[in-house]
Amino acid sequence: ASGHSLLRDPRHNKGLSFTEKERDAHYLRGLLPPAILPQELQEKRLLQNVRQLEVPLQRYMFLMDLQERNERLFYKLMIDNVEELLPVVYTPTVGEACQKYGSIFRRSQGLYISLKDKGRVLEVLRNWPEKSIQVIVVTDGERILGLGDLGCQGMGIPVGKLALYTALGGVRPSACLPITIDVGTNNEELLNDEFYIGLRQRRATGQEYTELLDEFMVAVKQNYGQKVLVQFEDFANHNAFALLDKYKATHLVFNDDIQGTAAVVLAGLMAGLKFAGGTLADHTFLFFGAGEAGTGIAELVALEISMQSKTSQEEAHKNIWLVDSKGLIVSSRKDSIQPFKKLYAHEHEPVKDLLSAIKDIKPTALIGSAGVGQSFTKEVIEAMSSINKRPIILALSNPTSKSECTAEQAYSWSQVGRAIFGSGSPFDPVKYNEKLFIPAQANNAYIFPGFGLGVVISGAIRVKDDMVLAAAEALAEQVTAEHFDKGLIYPPFSSIRKISTNIAARVAAKAYDLVPFYGELSVDHKGVLCKLFTLGSKGGRQLHQRKATSSVVSNEQ
Ligand code: NAP
Ligand code: MN
Repeated sequence: ASGHSLLRDPRHNKGLSFTEKERDAHYLRGLLPPAILPQELQEKRLLQNVRQLEVPLQRYMFLMDLQERNERLFYKLMIDNVEELLPVVYTPTVGEACQKYGSIFRRSQGLYISLKDKGRVLEVLRNWPEKSIQVIVVTDGERILGLGDLGCQGMGIPVGKLALYTALGGVRPSACLPITIDVGTNNEELLNDEFYIGLRQRRATGQEYTELLDEFMVAVKQNYGQKVLVQFEDFANHNAFALLDKYKATHLVFNDDIQGTAAVVLAGLMAGLKFAGGTLADHTFLFFGAGEAGTGIAELVALEISMQSKTSQEEAHKNIWLVDSKGLIVSSRKDSIQPFKKLYAHEHEPVKDLLSAIKDIKPTALIGSAGVGQSFTKEVIEAMSSINKRPIILALSNPTSKSECTAEQAYSWSQVGRAIFGSGSPFDPVKYNEKLFIPAQANNAYIFPGFGLGVVISGAIRVKDDMVLAAAEALAEQVTAEHFDKGLIYPPFSSIRKISTNIAARVAAKAYDLVPFYGELSVDHKGVLCKLFTLGSKGGRQLHQRKATSSVVSNEQ
């Protein structure tokens, strides 16, 4: 290839850091100024540039341009500054980027499959330049973060999530494929926006929707084989459950909103026991919100309890109660309760409001995921604190404006900070009576990159709940005594690459364990996996991290 096209190929372009030798070998002489800048200097310069941009959306555009120009440098920058740059590429800034995706659109990223492509989805997949794909993140844009239906402009989400697959989990960028399925949008504002990039029509539903999704799933398997992980992201509730249910038996699928959330929250609950005492089975859980997040967490909690105490999952369900928009979910309720909620419809009088439910049920843990801001009132937190010495209070709804309460409220209303508090959106530490309380953030980015890496390196062809459980356990175990001393229930995010690697090793090992039961795993990765597993469990952490990330962008380059 000519030097000129090399400079325009983001996968191989190194800009000013091409050496003399490389400049000779690739016909680059004269196409670059004479200076040779080592990557560290390029990185230093870029970081200065990003920091000069005060508007978050401009930082987002800057980083996306970099990704489209010099991929290595983009990932190097992300990896070395993960805490600073995560909120740009991921929530919250990516949300704003999706809302304005049409007006900031430059170079197309990811793959678009629309209703127009019906009957030729395979053909569309084949237009993607990379042939060996390990992870697909796909959305239909109907429920982007807490922002609702953003149609085709939801593309920012799969692009951002996959950037994290590489930056946090070490999956090769070329093996990642972001996809948006455009079935229209019901967002009037977008339909009337002259710069909207998607189909200008209302959402297809029913058979038309199902057929396109099915054609897509079949084509994925046909084109990439059965070991490609398909992560569903930000689908609306009704489709999310149905798609996961339908394809988990035939494809390697994972829904981050349901399963990823469940794993990260379960890990926090397990670590939180250090402060709250007892085992999971000793606790009573009340969920405010019974959607993807709420029931996903409830299911995994029940699975963990049943594994730990060797009881049935039905038995474990008895200590789990949920509230939805119609009140406490109880068997005596007159309305029809959706199937995924039925497991928790215990015998009880109907109860309308949260406070009464708390007084009746006496939960030890209260988990908010209804997307209703300020629903954990002073009375609610006080009731939890009068029942428990150390109430567990998780305010998971995003973004910050939807949070059930703030960290400060949880600490001050639980008198001298007795609450074990975690949230979906970040909160600053709170100083109270000279003591510093550090709120936990149940960030899905703790789980999915490591989980996905574990799945693909194991060569698994199905995701099993036990693998999700293994990820949660692996995360919880990485909270050390030193972290507990600071009141933390998650390990610090700054060591996320190491955290992801450990999660990956555990997930892969679990996948391998499951082979005799399911007989569905291919064994061509056996060698890698055994090494990973033995090194991982015998404490050879350093070495096993190397192995796990060997197919990837390494820190050193
Ligand atoms: P979802 O599937 O739409 O579920 C929302 C649930 O809340 C439904 O069960 C709904 O009841 C219930 N609800 C709505 N209004 C209510 C009210 N006034 N009182 C009681 N219940 C009410 O949404 P989701 O995907 O679970 O997400 C929910 C929230 O969790 C979002 O804000 C999201 O950002 C957050 N989340 C956080 C994390 C994290 O922290 N890592 C991860 C995922 C999601 P019906 O069933 O009766 O409609
Ligand atoms: Mn999501």
